[in-house]
Amino acid sequence: IINEMRLKIPSKSVNEGFARSAVASFAAQLDPTVAEIADIKTAVSEAVTNCIVHAYAGEIGMITLEARILEGGVFMVKIRDRGCGIADVKQAMEPLFTTAQGDERAGLGFSVMESFMDKVTVRSTLGKGTIVTLTK
Ligand code: ATP
Ligand code: MG
Repeated sequence: IINEMRLKIPSKSVNEGFARSAVASFAAQLDPTVAEIADIKTAVSEAVTNCIVHAYAGEIGMITLEARILEGGVFMVKIRDRGCGIADVKQAMEPLFTTAQGDERAGLGFSVMESFMDKVTVRSTLGKGTIVTLTK
């Protein structure tokens, strides 16, 4: 590990933009292109939004973000919540799958993360929480 940071914030929607900017500022030391920074921001935004709207639906809980810069210019960020967890991760990651009612959510968050980052891994335990790891 060349450098690392940790950020712990409550799942308030005002913190979504903060988390996205904070992670992008940290990643900036890798001297990324504007497009790469935009990709990281978009992916982090999707993951943090999921913590706010799904993991802690109707309540406020803590979200922890851990970002790391590894050898070879690899960037990694883990987004962790201790919310409701995901019953079936494989199904949750399928394009257009959503547990949300109505038409507010498209079920594309994980697809967006996968298209904007090189690797997306999800570990989740029902009733305990979820860790999403994004690598680029
Ligand atoms: P969109 O992201 O397009 O607004 P969405 O959030 O439903 O819609 P995804 O982000 O792909 O779509 O997530 C798919 C489903 O996975 C969600 O509907 C939800 O059931 C579940 N999910 C995702 N992240 C979490 C999380 N951190 N905790 C609990 N459930 C989650
Ligand atoms: Mg989503």
